[in-house]
Amino acid sequence: QAKNAGGDRIAVRDSRTQAAATARLNLESDLRVALDRNELRLHYQPVIDVKTGTPIGLEALLRWEHPTHGLLQPASFISLAEDSGLIVPIGSWVLNRALQQTQQWRNTLPGAKDLTIFVNVSVRQLQDLRFVDAVRDALRATGISPAAVTLEITESVLMDQRELPTAIIQGLHACGVGLAIDDFGTGYSSLSQLRWLSAHTLKIDGSFVSELGYKDPSSASIIQLILGMARVLNLRVIAEGVETPAQLNELRRLGVRHAQGYLWCAPLPAHEIPKQLQTHAPEPPLHNAQPRKLP
Ligand code: C2E
Ligand code: MG
Ligand code: MG
Ligand code: MG
Repeated sequence: QAKNAGGDRIAVRDSRTQAAATARLNLESDLRVALDRNELRLHYQPVIDVKTGTPIGLEALLRWEHPTHGLLQPASFISLAEDSGLIVPIGSWVLNRALQQTQQWRNTLPGAKDLTIFVNVSVRQLQDLRFVDAVRDALRATGISPAAVTLEITESVLMDQRELPTAIIQGLHACGVGLAIDDFGTGYSSLSQLRWLSAHTLKIDGSFVSELGYKDPSSASIIQLILGMARVLNLRVIAEGVETPAQLNELRRLGVRHAQGYLWCAPLPAHEIPKQLQTHAPEPPLHNAQPRKLP
């Protein structure tokens, strides 16, 4: 009898696991047609010069307007796209869309002629030499200066160099685009790996920023260490996930010059970017500890 009860429990667990697997399969088949059905969107978040409060660039962040689930964030479908290989065509779409949009803004918005764009890429995209062709094609098709384009690679990718063929990194450098190391501080890359990649930018992971000031006093020291290393390697640093004026003050004190976060602006759909770039937002107040309301 006990065996029977256990069997029922297993049956329930199995049917739950099966429901989850079915949901994932359904989402995958939806994702397969999402590109053709024009359901993918890019949102853009400004990268801010903390001294002046002005945007120096934008990061493109993928969203999926799912027909029944609504607007999905990357957390609910990027790993699916990576595991299925769909990230390759989706990534090419992201690249083309982001470069085309940015070039249009550079050409038409007053004061935006030097606007730069940051595009996230997955390790799956970096394993096929055709990615370099895709980058070259996107540059040619849009006419944007390669110097305005930075590809973001997550730090954890660097830990296993077999994942990242040298020919592809060299090909990307030959195209003239820049590389940034995303989520820096969460992986274990070595100085030699950083040098090998020849990125020009480090993005400090938001977890260090959110711990600033209270929870963990060591995060300020870690940021200081990253800044010192970046100085030696001649890398620009961007702090991610800045939400409060107190965090901004602390980052300024440490010498951080570029940042992103809800304090200035959440990722916005393309049509809201022009007015965001036009309003040279005044500096946020320095001694108000309240995070700004999200739009
Ligand atoms: P990421 O590249 O590290 O992007 C930063 C994430 O932090 C974004 O989440 C952004 O919306 C969020 N963020 C911005 N400011 C704040 C803030 O002040 N506080 C907090 N808590 N979060 C903030 P999002 O848009 O959900 O993207 C998550 C991740 O998905 C990205 O992390 C990136 O790794 C991946 N991703 C997004 N778009 C693409 C894409 O086009 N291709 C690939 N391969 N990955 C993408
Ligand atoms: Mg990123
Ligand atoms: Mg990323
Ligand atoms: Mg990041």
